[in-house]
Amino acid sequence: MQPRRKYPKTRSAATSARYAKRRKNRLARVDNDLTDDQWQTLLEAWGRCAYCQGDGAALQRDCVQPVSRGGRYTLGNVVPACASCNASKHNSEVTSWLRRKKLDERAFLLRHATILQQLLPTEEETAASMEHAADERPAEESAS
Ligand SMILES: [Zn+2]
Repeated sequence: MQPRRKYPKTRSAATSARYAKRRKNRLARVDNDLTDDQWQTLLEAWGRCAYCQGDGAALQRDCVQPVSRGGRYTLGNVVPACASCNASKHNSEVTSWLRRKKLDERAFLLRHATILQQLLPTEEETAASMEHAADERPAEESAS
């Protein structure tokens, strides 16, 4: 009997991952558009290897979804990885590789989704710009 049988609540992580994936799909229309500025931003956001948390001296650009599997060098798909993780992961699918390496898959997905939320334009911003358009019309609510 293992007390750990119970499934941890992964809903929020899964939801975040789904949103991240949507954004990634949206970005997938743009091929390999990661700029040096965006790379610097990613380096600062992660601070260390996205997979093993090792703060190796030379972090490399790793495509979460490998190029061989349709991934691209975009803000939504690149994370900093140490040389050893980068070489080990290679063309593997990220979650199965993380599991194989006994790395924290959930922590990675969550962190990745959180960082992307901060870095990518959000739906809220779109909504805000629409509100601006509404501001130009006379406010009906304040009249009553
Ligand atoms: Zn690493």
